[in-house]
Amino acid sequence: MENTAKDGKIEKGIHFIHQIIEDDLKNGKNEKRIHTRFPPEPNGYLHIGHAKSICLNFGTAEKYNGLCNLRFDDTNPVKEDVEYVDSIKEDIQWLGFSWDNREYYASDYFGKLYEYALILIKKGKAYVCDMTAEEMSNSRGTPTVPGKESHWRNRSVEENLDLFERMRMGEFKDGEKTLRAKIDMASPNMHMRDPVMYRIINARHHRTGDKWCIYPMYDYAHGQSDSVESITHSICTLEFEVHRPLYDWFIKEIGIYAPRQIEFARLNLNYTVMSKRKLLELVKEKYVNGWDDPRMPTICGLRRRGYTPESIRNFADIVGVAKRDNAIDVALLEHCLREDLNKKAIRVMGVLNPLKVVIDNYPEGKDELLDAINNPEDESAGKRKVPFSKVIYIEKDDFMENPPKKYFRLSPGNEVRLRYAYFIRCTQVVKDEKTDDIIEVHCTYDPASKGGNSPDGRKVQGTIHWVSAEYAVKAEVRLYDRLFIKENPDDSEEGKDFKDYLNPDSLRIITGYVEPFLKNTDRDMKYQFERIGYFCFDKDTSPEKLVFNRTVTLKDSWAKMAAK
Ligand code: ATP
Ligand code: MG
Repeated sequence: MENTAKDGKIEKGIHFIHQIIEDDLKNGKNEKRIHTRFPPEPNGYLHIGHAKSICLNFGTAEKYNGLCNLRFDDTNPVKEDVEYVDSIKEDIQWLGFSWDNREYYASDYFGKLYEYALILIKKGKAYVCDMTAEEMSNSRGTPTVPGKESHWRNRSVEENLDLFERMRMGEFKDGEKTLRAKIDMASPNMHMRDPVMYRIINARHHRTGDKWCIYPMYDYAHGQSDSVESITHSICTLEFEVHRPLYDWFIKEIGIYAPRQIEFARLNLNYTVMSKRKLLELVKEKYVNGWDDPRMPTICGLRRRGYTPESIRNFADIVGVAKRDNAIDVALLEHCLREDLNKKAIRVMGVLNPLKVVIDNYPEGKDELLDAINNPEDESAGKRKVPFSKVIYIEKDDFMENPPKKYFRLSPGNEVRLRYAYFIRCTQVVKDEKTDDIIEVHCTYDPASKGGNSPDGRKVQGTIHWVSAEYAVKAEVRLYDRLFIKENPDDSEEGKDFKDYLNPDSLRIITGYVEPFLKNTDRDMKYQFERIGYFCFDKDTSPEKLVFNRTVTLKDSWAKMAAK
């Protein structure tokens, strides 16, 4: 059975990759070793799709008492950077996985890969080709039309060895020559039509410096790196399924240990773009404020937004592993986040859109500290004190001068409960004479209702949150919404591109008031502003200024859909 998150139902079961692994274990394959790897190219920051792959590779190793290597697939010196290497390591650790000391680089194997190439040349299975990239592409054919063999295909072994050595020594310019595998120009699989193994790039590599000017192609480097590391199950995304015959061909012709490549469908999320190129474009052209902008689907963006590693790991588990491409509802990711935050978040009160309320019969100059529960889901989180005083702020939305029927919050003559505090009844509305805007609302409170408990069994229908105007702390609050307004931003209409579907309201910055408790509290904690949503401190917070990110609202559209 596969995990499915379709039709609102969440089912758990062992997926096809784990089935393969369990069969291999049963059959004693690879001396019952399980060894996976996560192979990022250090050319961008990791995103939630990579998180899926990390959870699968590291999670599988964990589950079957195996190992998972971190291997940087650094075969293209032009696009890669140490900044990315560092961020990738930080993200994997944050997700809670460890590669111990098994941090490898494809570039560690450049020497070995070169020797393997010599083996292939000597076997007559690889040749140096002088075609330009354009000539090569013109002679490749189409899936139904066979390609044309290169004029240089039948060079002698000696000539190939000599030319390849001279390629390595830097005798040629970029693009002047390539080393190609000699397979089959008529193969129905385009990847088998004499694919390029090495190209000349006269560029400095962030690890090997100027040692090499020939760099292996991904297809040539990847499988051999897997083999060198004795990987048992090389798990990759579906687009590599058509590369598998080539993966197997190299291993077999070189004559080395053979890992097994298994493909699964990459994770796609609606309302999200996941291509590294597109994410880079958003960053470079400043549509967002960096890779860790809380609207980005990058792991660092999600972290800054307030996502927890547990919520992402749980999400990866629930979406499971599929063999066909599909798009997952981003509401499911948010659902997993809410489930985790509900357990962990400290409940506090914050007013984002304040309306001043004066409690006329509350003694002038008096204040008191009231008990508030930190987390009803977790008794061990304890209690805290919240200051109460004569003037408070409530949410503008929680008052209506002319309410419709069934409006249970504050309105003239109506009584509500202030959470943890008192029952109050609205007695007067003060308005600006010119604009008719409500300036403040006056109430009376019932001293016998302390703690928000009914003194005589009388009921109030509404409970609202509040902060003391005297003691509340001003805070900048960043309200995020989806970055894209289109369900599939990659699928653009003619003449448009994904950037045309950016949501103009994806970030709204407001000033709110929060309880003073938040002034000196744990900056890494997660908070629920009661009745509003989950929030976390942003890294821009300073001793002078609190800055909050809204992680997610309380409304769980996924749970609603699932209940139907
Ligand atoms: P590129 O086009 O630069 O290769 P990439 O997204 O494939 O982009 P890699 O750094 O090569 O980036 O990816 C590292 C690993 O993460 C690969 O094994 C890749 O298959 C996997 N991966 C990337 N995107 C997703 C995704 N959306 N869902 C699941 N796995 C993914
Ligand atoms: Mg890739």
